[in-house]
Amino acid sequence: MAVETKTTCPYCGTGCGVIARREGDGQVSVKGDPDHPANFGRLCSKGSALGETIDLEGRLLHPEIGGRQASWEEALDLVAERFGAAVAEHGPDAVAFYVSGQCLTEDYYVANKLMKGFIGSANIDTNSRLCMSSSVAGHRRAFGSDTVPGTYEDLELADLVVLTGSNLAWCHPVLYQRLAAAKAARPDMKVVVIDPRRTMTCEIADLHLPIRADGDVALFMGLLAHLARSPALDRAYIAAHTRGFHAALAEAEALDDATLQALTGLTPAEIETFFRLFAGTTKVVTCYSQGVNQSTSGTDKVNAILNCHLATGRIGRPGMGPFSLTGQPNAMGGREVGGLANMLAAHMVLEDPEHRGRVRRFWKAPVIADRPGLKAVDLFRAAADGRIKALWIMATNPVVSLPEADLVRAALSTCPFVVVSDMSGTTDTAREADVLLPSLGWGEKDGTVTNSERRISRQRAFLTAPGEARADWWQMAEVARRLGHGAAFAYQGPSEIFAEHAALSAFENDGSRDFDIGAFADMSNEAYEELPSFLWPRPANRQGKERFFADGRFYHGDGKARFVAVSAQPAERRTADFPLTLNTGRIRDQWHTMTRTGKSARLSAHIAEPFCEIHPRDAAALGIEDAQLVTVTSPLGRVILRALVTVRQAEGALFAPMHWNDAYAAKARIGALIPGLTDPHSGQPATKNVAARAAPFAAA
Ligand code: SF4
Repeated sequence: MAVETKTTCPYCGTGCGVIARREGDGQVSVKGDPDHPANFGRLCSKGSALGETIDLEGRLLHPEIGGRQASWEEALDLVAERFGAAVAEHGPDAVAFYVSGQCLTEDYYVANKLMKGFIGSANIDTNSRLCMSSSVAGHRRAFGSDTVPGTYEDLELADLVVLTGSNLAWCHPVLYQRLAAAKAARPDMKVVVIDPRRTMTCEIADLHLPIRADGDVALFMGLLAHLARSPALDRAYIAAHTRGFHAALAEAEALDDATLQALTGLTPAEIETFFRLFAGTTKVVTCYSQGVNQSTSGTDKVNAILNCHLATGRIGRPGMGPFSLTGQPNAMGGREVGGLANMLAAHMVLEDPEHRGRVRRFWKAPVIADRPGLKAVDLFRAAADGRIKALWIMATNPVVSLPEADLVRAALSTCPFVVVSDMSGTTDTAREADVLLPSLGWGEKDGTVTNSERRISRQRAFLTAPGEARADWWQMAEVARRLGHGAAFAYQGPSEIFAEHAALSAFENDGSRDFDIGAFADMSNEAYEELPSFLWPRPANRQGKERFFADGRFYHGDGKARFVAVSAQPAERRTADFPLTLNTGRIRDQWHTMTRTGKSARLSAHIAEPFCEIHPRDAAALGIEDAQLVTVTSPLGRVILRALVTVRQAEGALFAPMHWNDAYAAKARIGALIPGLTDPHSGQPATKNVAARAAPFAAA
């Protein structure tokens, strides 16, 4: 008999509701959940193909030690012994966890608790560092907390939607569909796309600004100066609810027109058109994603955008506000439980002794980390140079996805003890592990995720766990028990972890903050099983919606938001040897390093091999023809890709997708080209502006 289960798509940050139908013969089909408020029944190509990606080919089914099958007892004993010994001999900062936006909130919570409260280090970071950490840092500077104020409905209510650094059509396809439908229904609605490439998102753009790489800070500084000269400036709002306006404006006004044009690469007419449109439209939503975040100036870009919304009071009201789009299904959930090296838990601050004391008391923890840990790029450098003695990687493939990918691989062979928990035992990262632990995948694991608009939804199991695969939270709780912390990790299931996370949020809620997740502290297992998706914060009566910053109050001590006085710096990385700018990103039908989407023939048919977009004039100058193999080289390494000659690509720049790995073909990992340059505030790597050169491939 067929059984239907409501769950959530495990790919992008849109967080679509899915109904998985399992037939009596085990076949699985999926459809969009018409009742889920993120997608109302829609699914994109990746979500629609979920049923094609859950076979057991390549699955890791049993724990392995040094390549031989082992029992869970033996493997977990070894992990606990090696982590315990590393801490005893070298101190807590000699160990690290590297987790993932694929982890469920419950997995993240347990990992964060074990590392920060019981091992005593903050060396837990996540591949979400590559996703949205510049937005986190920018929000904290402006708002006093990492708070995303908007909802998806705001995009539909806006009269102007600005998409900067976001190829929404391919990276958040269902949200794009919602926006396109809203625009079709309201032809007066305008969409501006700010992107060096003419992406598919430009199909609905009234204005495309082909900005130079990293020109965003200058563009939004120029906009702030323009707003200050226009009726759009909300002086009453600035006076009542903000600080720092004059310093930010002084920096913005110091940027002359010639510099603005040089840094953005835009014409005066393009700039003027955008500024007038923004100033003249009250209901504006500005969405920003990896093109903003993945930059050495990512945090300043975010604050330059926030400055413009604060200057106009266009925040906390329907159809207006800044909106950070998270890349991964649970990047937001990880933030909620503090699963990053510079966060604590329940939106508390690692550097604040009162917050540390509160979390430590709640956890009844023997210690608490008292300073930020190593962020992603630095974490693997520390593994490479011997500072990290034991490393546990969970649900991610950094040998492919991180910058300095060859250094990451070398780090894993240098590090004395590497544990990898994953569904697959054949990823580039899994091959470097001393211990492999088989994890549950989508359809097998149970927990919650939070999407870009702060909507918490359940991922539910509808498949039997294959082989000996177990939940990630269970694996960590078992190691915690072996390290002598069993009482604090005696969870019987994910509902108990979620309830504890809720209780910590309530414990933290001293009246000045109202995240309302605390209401779930006493939730039963049955209630957790039935939990419908919900947005936080929730009104006390749980009716309707509550909107962040609707009252003009922010989370800084004085209740006021902060303008940040950013300055625009040139980010020219090209040299005579590397005269092109390489930009990297996603394609429509693949997810990250393709360990799941690569299984679907339908998805692979969209774009079957790694490619490199190049402008026709650059191609002609370099002797490159369309569909020819080319070598793309950076100061770090080289890859071999198929040339795609197209006017969608700006002159002087290249674009290559990030998905392919060495299992597909030698020299296909884009991460091997990208240097480990990071934003100084967020630690987020810069993957959009890499010096490179291209040439026709010549076999050796
Ligand atoms: Fe999944 Fe994102 Fe597609 Fe929705 S838009 S179905 S969450 S990949």
